[in-house]
Amino acid sequence: MHDTLPEQTPRWQHVEKTIADLLVAYGYDEIRMPIVEMTDLFCRSIGEVTDIVEKEMYSFQDRNGDGLTLRPEGTASCVRACMENGLLHNQTQKLWYKGPMFRHERPQKGRYRQFHQIGVETFGMAGPDIDAELICMTARLWPALGLNDIKLELNSLGSSEARVNYRKKLVEYYTEHQASLDEDSQRRLSTNPMRILDSKNPAMQALNENAPKLMDYLDDDSKQHFERLRELLDAAGVEYTINPRLVRGLDYYCKTVFEWVTDQLGAQGTVCAGGRFDGLVEQLGGKPVPASGFAMGLERLIALLEDNGVDFPQQSTHAYLVMFGTEAEKLGFQLAEQLRNEVAGLKLVLNCNGGSFKSQFKRADKSNAQYAIIIGEDEIKNGTVSLKNLREKSEQQTVQQSELVEELNKIVRG
Ligand code: ATP
Ligand code: MG
Repeated sequence: MHDTLPEQTPRWQHVEKTIADLLVAYGYDEIRMPIVEMTDLFCRSIGEVTDIVEKEMYSFQDRNGDGLTLRPEGTASCVRACMENGLLHNQTQKLWYKGPMFRHERPQKGRYRQFHQIGVETFGMAGPDIDAELICMTARLWPALGLNDIKLELNSLGSSEARVNYRKKLVEYYTEHQASLDEDSQRRLSTNPMRILDSKNPAMQALNENAPKLMDYLDDDSKQHFERLRELLDAAGVEYTINPRLVRGLDYYCKTVFEWVTDQLGAQGTVCAGGRFDGLVEQLGGKPVPASGFAMGLERLIALLEDNGVDFPQQSTHAYLVMFGTEAEKLGFQLAEQLRNEVAGLKLVLNCNGGSFKSQFKRADKSNAQYAIIIGEDEIKNGTVSLKNLREKSEQQTVQQSELVEELNKIVRG
C-alpha cells in the first residue's frame, strides 16, 4: 500500500481529471460508495471460487461481530447501492466511480494491495450499443492521455447455459491432458475450469491455445449480440482482436468481455477490463436488470504514462510573497488577503517562518511561482513593492502598492 507523495499527486489529479471530464462529456454520473461492505456481498457476487474471494480479501469482524470486507472492486458495491436506493426501477443508469480497492495479492510491479480504479457501470440496457459505447469511450481516453500503444481484445462468454455446455467440453479436454496442468490449473479443473484459460503461466500457453473455443459454443442470441457489437465498433473505426481465451477473473460476466492491454508493463499488462453482467442484479436479490461496465487500474495507467515519457502538466503559482522584518510581514499579510479578495483566480504563496533573503528566494523557486513580490524597509517607506520575474531574465520592477491588483490581474490573465 503506497503513499502518494506531493510531487506525484499532480500526475494523479491530471489522469483523474482527464478521465472524469471524458465520462461527464458522455453523460455519465458519478456515484460514491463506502469502502467497506458486508463480506457476504462479495461472496455472492464475485463468486466463491475466484482468486479474489478465495485468497485476496481483507475481511474482518467489527465490534458487533458483523463480517465486513474492504472492497476488492467496485461493481458489487455499485449494484448494492443502486438496489438499495431504487435506482434500477424502470430506468437506465450510466454511472462512474473512483477510489481505492484492496486485495491481498503478492505485491509486484503493477500489482499492489491497495490500488485505485475508475470504474463505469451501466444498468437497464441489454443491447450491444451500450457495450460499444463503453469501448469507444475508453478508446478515446488513451490518446487524450497521450498513449497510443494500447490494444483492445474482445470475446463473448455467451449465456450461462452456453457456458455450461462449453464447460463440459473444457473439462473433458483438460482431463485428457491432466499431467500437463500446473498446480493452479489442477485445482481449477474441479472448481472453475474456465479460469485455466486465463492462466498467466507461459508453460500453460500451448495447452490453452489448443483448448476448445467458447466462440464455437455460443447461443444464437449471444452470437447476434457479438456480431452487432463488432459492426458498431467497425463503424466507429475502433480496432480490436478477438481473443478466445479472454474469460475475465470474476464469475458474473456474460456475453461481451473486453480488455485493453499493453506489452509495456510486463506480466501486468491489462490497464482496463470489463464486460456485460446481466445476471448480477438478480443474483443479488433484485429483479433482473441488464448491465455492462468496466474498470481501469490507475497505477498501471500512470506507470505507462511515465514509461512513455508523457508530459504531465506542471503545477505552478503566480506569485510568492517575500518579506523582510516584522513591519513588512504585517503589511504583506494584509496585502496578501486583499489581493486574494480582488484578483480572481490568483495563486499566491505567502512566505511563512521568516528566513534570510536567500532562503526565501529558494522557497519561492521551489514553489514554481512565476513572480516574487518583495516587501522590505524601502518598499514600506515608499508605498511600493518590488516585482521580480523568477522564470525569465529581466529587471526587477517597482510597483505602487495601489497598482498591485492591476499588475497581478495582468499576470493571472496572461
Ligand atoms: P489481473 O488479471 O491483472 O489480476 P483482474 O482481472 O484481477 O486483473 P479486475 O478485477 O478486472 O482485474 O480489475 C480491473 C483492473 O484493475 C485491472 O485490469 C488492473 O488494471 C487493475 N488491477 C487489478 N488488480 C490490481 C492490483 N492488485 N494492483 C493494481 N492494479 C490492479
Ligand atoms: Mg487479479
